[in-house]
Amino acid sequence: VLLPPSPTIQKAIEQAYEKFRHVTDGKNASYIPYLAKADPALYGIAVVTADGRVFKVGQADHAFPVESVAKIFTLAAVLREHGAETVLHKVGVNATGLPFNSVLAVELNNDKLGGSPPPGNPLVNAGAIATASLVDGKTLDTRWKSILNTAGEFAGHPLRLNNDVYRSEMESNQHNQAIAVLLQSYGHLYADPTETVDLYTRECSYDVDAVDLATMGATLANGGTNPRTHHAAVDAATSARVLAVMATAGLYNTSGEWLFKVGLPGKSGVGGGIVAVVPGKLAIGVYSSPLDEAGNSVRGQLAVQFIAETLGVNIFAAD
Ligand code: GLU
Repeated sequence: VLLPPSPTIQKAIEQAYEKFRHVTDGKNASYIPYLAKADPALYGIAVVTADGRVFKVGQADHAFPVESVAKIFTLAAVLREHGAETVLHKVGVNATGLPFNSVLAVELNNDKLGGSPPPGNPLVNAGAIATASLVDGKTLDTRWKSILNTAGEFAGHPLRLNNDVYRSEMESNQHNQAIAVLLQSYGHLYADPTETVDLYTRECSYDVDAVDLATMGATLANGGTNPRTHHAAVDAATSARVLAVMATAGLYNTSGEWLFKVGLPGKSGVGGGIVAVVPGKLAIGVYSSPLDEAGNSVRGQLAVQFIAETLGVNIFAAD
């Protein structure tokens, strides 16, 4: 595999930074008080390559809540612990085409298949809550440590819960509680609903920065081995499956448009983070809090699309 040379990457991210710096479209997530007050001016981009080089521009070291991007690392942990069949049959891997927090993701699948099918996929809330309920561990705290440790292996250093975010979300997560109970009613939740929503809320509330996201993505680009620490977070088969789910459903209900425009598996979070992965080559991490209607960072998407085009890394394009 031919990786882009360092000056080419640095130039591409600097251009993306300048080009979209003054874009003010989008709004911070309003339903989580902590996220509503994020500074919309902050904007950072990082690239980490599969051979461990790090590039950054803007506020790439600014910490923000990981939110939904965490779903891919918890999925990785559950795939590692339980294998692909469990995820396939107990959670599902099809796109729901629905908004991230849709209750219909639980309902429609039941209607469609007329029995007890899985809730959808691990990257929308319903499936992510089901995925969190599969994490092994005797107590809530051991399960939480396991999720946080796995994420830290992807990032290459220990990550931390942001208590303000966690508290803010615990006060406003009634919708997710409803999803968990609904899942339970269909037999698609595999642990206690209250504890599982707590675990899921913690998973959304650890802090990362754009360099962390790019490093975590680069670990997937590198077959599950962190290219900076050389530690294998997951095996190559697991890593490939996580990327497949990202391509299917990483940007909520606009995942199809994203794949069509950018040609890369990606994952966004309502905290304003986005990560896109070029298998075998590199990953791009961006932070900018204002979101589009679907919940994806506006500048994040623009920056990734520009960088992907500039570096010519659309996975569907013949070289
Ligand atoms: N904690 C958020 C929620 O569950 C995460 C949503 C997201 O980033 O998509 O509502």
